[in-house]
Amino acid sequence: MKNKDNFQIYNTLSRKKEIFIPINPPYVGMYLCGPTVYSDSHLGHARSAITFDILVRYLNHLNYKVKYIRNITDVGHLERDADEGEDKMAKKARIEKLDVMEVASKYTNSYHKDLQKLNTLKPNIEPIATGHIIEQIELIKTIIKNNLAYEVNGSVYFDVKNYSNKHNYGILSGRKIEELLSNTRNLSGQSDKRYPLDFALWKKASPEHIMRWPSPWGEGFPGWHLECSAMSFKYLGNHFDIHGGGMELSFPHHECEIAQSLAANDVQPAKYWMHHNMVTIDGKKMSKSLNNFITLDQLFNGSHPLLDKPYSPMVLRYFILQAHYRSTISFSVEALKSAEKGYIKLLNTFLGLNKLILEQTTNTKIDTELLKKLDSLYEKCYDYMNDDLNTARIIATLFDVSKVINLFINGQQSISILGKDGFEKLKNTFAIFFFEILGLIEQESISKNDLLNIILSIYKDAKLNKKYDIVDQIRADLKNNKIIIEDRKTGEVDWKYE
Ligand code: ZN
Repeated sequence: MKNKDNFQIYNTLSRKKEIFIPINPPYVGMYLCGPTVYSDSHLGHARSAITFDILVRYLNHLNYKVKYIRNITDVGHLERDADEGEDKMAKKARIEKLDVMEVASKYTNSYHKDLQKLNTLKPNIEPIATGHIIEQIELIKTIIKNNLAYEVNGSVYFDVKNYSNKHNYGILSGRKIEELLSNTRNLSGQSDKRYPLDFALWKKASPEHIMRWPSPWGEGFPGWHLECSAMSFKYLGNHFDIHGGGMELSFPHHECEIAQSLAANDVQPAKYWMHHNMVTIDGKKMSKSLNNFITLDQLFNGSHPLLDKPYSPMVLRYFILQAHYRSTISFSVEALKSAEKGYIKLLNTFLGLNKLILEQTTNTKIDTELLKKLDSLYEKCYDYMNDDLNTARIIATLFDVSKVINLFINGQQSISILGKDGFEKLKNTFAIFFFEILGLIEQESISKNDLLNIILSIYKDAKLNKKYDIVDQIRADLKNNKIIIEDRKTGEVDWKYE
């Protein structure tokens, strides 16, 4: 049953599942690396948002007070690692002939719209990197003061060599300095770095670089890793509970965040590091070059060539929850179709259960065996949730509960065999897992307009056949809902608001 003490999550830092104990209960500080807003959101964004949405929902359910921070990256994320290439934002602005901040607003808005459709909870604070340049500069100053960063020609680099004398650079990702060095290309003559693994905290802006701010080291822009450290410290303090992101962020992004934090504050930024796995398309990695990069918009309107029709946001949500967050998800049309079937089945059970009414009069014998069986299924749902958010097993268990519920819905059994308490418990528990924790909601499959058109065609038919009782009934029912039917001389029928 609901019990905070059994909740275990996998900590990437310790490489094992740990009982979740917040630093300062009942408060839980959580930071999730948000998107770089230079393109439409895709399946990877959906997986990240949904994974951590489930975590926040469960923490809420356990009565924790979650402070959920998810940032927006709008500067400093360069095209290639190792501080090279054009800023992704600036490149998109050049291609789309927009101001960089127009690019940021455009894709932030579409990200929010997509996430709302997926029914994810909003973060408590959504800080934007360019809104925190002062904090980033202050953080760099501290790291320089602590002798773990140096300035060269207007850029500032983190001193990985010096840092690794005291700390383990690779503690999160499990990488070794020697391996990293052998994988790094030799520094070209132009590089200002003292050591190949050093990374930029601040980059000098070249004359053509658009995004630039004044700093003690001249005009430039912050490094991508730095912004998440600066914003997480500002809103959650130097040491907070959970830091999340995709597995691909664990190196270099999160490894560098840890280094910056230890360099500035001598403390690990987060107690628990959580990473979700990636989405593959028909077993292959998503990439623009393979033409299998499906945006959420394309999925919802069915416009990508790999799709046969539109798939609703709730089907995608269900599809993502069918896998454990640390496993890869292989996306395919067949898998989506089966997710669609599963979602609709569970939704119909949920809706059907809520329509059932317990009759007061019966003196039916209560089926204690069935109640016991249901209790053990509820228990299982909590066990799976406590086992590192195993949503896949919860869905399977909800299907077991559904088998029982469908006996009642189909009229094979009377709900009264559960008794009043048993019936309430069934409704509550199903709602907790389906709706509150998994965040699945009813996806409307028909618009009000289409529904009214169906009613109007029944109305027309009844009028033609002189069934005036039906005609009057439809008129009256719609009028009660502030809708008036208009009969045209041509025989056509229309409606308007009263
Ligand atoms: Zn980040």
